[in-house]
Amino acid sequence: MSRAHNFSAGPAAIPESVIQEIIAALPEFKGTGMGLMEISHRSKQFDETLVSAESRLRSVLGIPTDYKVVFLQGGASLQFYMTALNLLRPGEPADFVLTGVWSNKAIKEAKRVGDAQPAWDGKAEGYTRLPQDSELAIRKEAIYVHTTSNNTIYGTQWQRSPDLQGHHVVCDMSSDICSRPIDVSKYDLIYAGAQKNLGPSGITAVILSPWAMERCPGNTLPAMLDYRLQVEERSLYNTTNTFAIFALDRTLAWIESEGGLPGMKARNSRKAEVLYGELDRTEFWLPRAQKADRSWMNVTWRTHTEELDKAFVSESDKAGLKGLKGHRSAAGLRASLYNACSVEDVTQLVAFMQDFERRHG
Ligand SMILES: *Cc1c(COP(=O)(O)O)cnc(C)c1O
Repeated sequence: MSRAHNFSAGPAAIPESVIQEIIAALPEFKGTGMGLMEISHRSKQFDETLVSAESRLRSVLGIPTDYKVVFLQGGASLQFYMTALNLLRPGEPADFVLTGVWSNKAIKEAKRVGDAQPAWDGKAEGYTRLPQDSELAIRKEAIYVHTTSNNTIYGTQWQRSPDLQGHHVVCDMSSDICSRPIDVSKYDLIYAGAQKNLGPSGITAVILSPWAMERCPGNTLPAMLDYRLQVEERSLYNTTNTFAIFALDRTLAWIESEGGLPGMKARNSRKAEVLYGELDRTEFWLPRAQKADRSWMNVTWRTHTEELDKAFVSESDKAGLKGLKGHRSAAGLRASLYNACSVEDVTQLVAFMQDFERRHG
């Protein structure tokens, strides 16, 4: 097997040991005589996996015991609407910190339900930075404030906790969940698609505080969009993505074996240091995000010309370094350094970059 250095933004690299465990489970799962994708989501064997995935997520992230956890389909994109539908009554206010493409999609969906307004918008500056606390215009009456912990496309990440003025916080953590320790008790609702740091696409973790659960109106909502029902049914109201939940459980077990979130933090900060070190070494590269707000997960930059960016993408691809083209809304280049990406992958990327500069500089 020859595996490339994978810098894809999502779906993204999965640890090779996890891939091996998935392969082993496909033909025959836990002595059932049936494969992982062929057994009932209500079987005892799958139930053990579901219970294990939830309990690992709880212990890895340090989720308070009075919080609920559900695994849902529809991606983070469904959560943009579902959070507002459950937490807001028609016309009620909620404030959004607009730090990139995803938060703009989140506010758009929330406007279908309530009075969703921006507390700050980084658009004029090309989303190259995050706001200072003093720039946040949060309404006193806002039911919650919505933030995005890491901006996958523009390459910014909160490196400090913003002062959200005592409000309840809803956070899209799709692209940096489990990449370093966080204090879950500071949030009322966290959602994250699995395909960046937690495994394959097709499953989204949602973490709800007691306050968030109380806000849910319950059985007036469509069943699939009702957190209360999904919690009561333990994520098994309908046929769940059994494959993705197994992969999620195995990915969390891998995180545990690598030292949990302190281990991930050490690994991720080292990778970021190596790549940003290269970006700051020479004027040949133009890093995108402002230094204080640089993401450890998605590093964005460009060269001085679009032609050179293109050459970089095609030459790096040929050299076995995959997924380095920037997102279409930010252009340029992007390397996604999620948990499964190794320090060695980044060292190889930097060696390629230095060679590229010698040849084109
Ligand atoms: C990838 C991503 C999304 C979209 O996730 P889907 O699973 O495609 O809906 C939303 N928010 C952030 C921060 C992301 O990185």
